[in-house]
Amino acid sequence: MIDTRPSRRGLLLTAAASSLFTLDTSLAQPLSPTPACQDGVAATLRQTEGPYFTPMSPERADLIEAGMPGQPMELVGFVLTRSCKPVPEALLDLWQADSKGDYDNTGYRLRGHQFADAEGRFRFRTVVPAQYPGRTPHLHIKVQPKGGRVLTTQLYFPGEPANRRDPIFRPELLIRTAKNEGSLAARFDFVLDIK
Ligand code: FE
Repeated sequence: MIDTRPSRRGLLLTAAASSLFTLDTSLAQPLSPTPACQDGVAATLRQTEGPYFTPMSPERADLIEAGMPGQPMELVGFVLTRSCKPVPEALLDLWQADSKGDYDNTGYRLRGHQFADAEGRFRFRTVVPAQYPGRTPHLHIKVQPKGGRVLTTQLYFPGEPANRRDPIFRPELLIRTAKNEGSLAARFDFVLDIK
């Protein structure tokens, strides 16, 4: 279960932002209302948007369409400030390759946006993307606080051999994963560069 114990500040001062939360197979359950987080964590790294962003994606949390191949996954997490405050109603816009490594550049397949809830929580349902030439499997995402600066970044999958060959892969952007009844349970918390 998500670690709801009080922040162990002082014991874990060197913890990387990506390991601030414990994780197991119960990720599919509702997130705790208050994340355990350490004040002053580093903001999530920015990465290039790449060539395949399409504006005006549909508002939807479930990107899986009927007959869509690929391993389903559920990505959940919080949008937080650097002092660990939830960012309510932050915009999250996700786009990605499909299970063959292809983007839909004419329509909106595997593209969608949503708004975090009042506690800064979000939940996307999608499929695990495949690698494509030059790139390890990744998700693209933009996260924007209301009226604030957009964070554009990419998320990566642990244990992918291609991570080592991708020049822009960064371990700080690894999602944490757990198998959950055939679907991949995934967790990533975004930290925006605001107090
Ligand atoms: Fe890409």
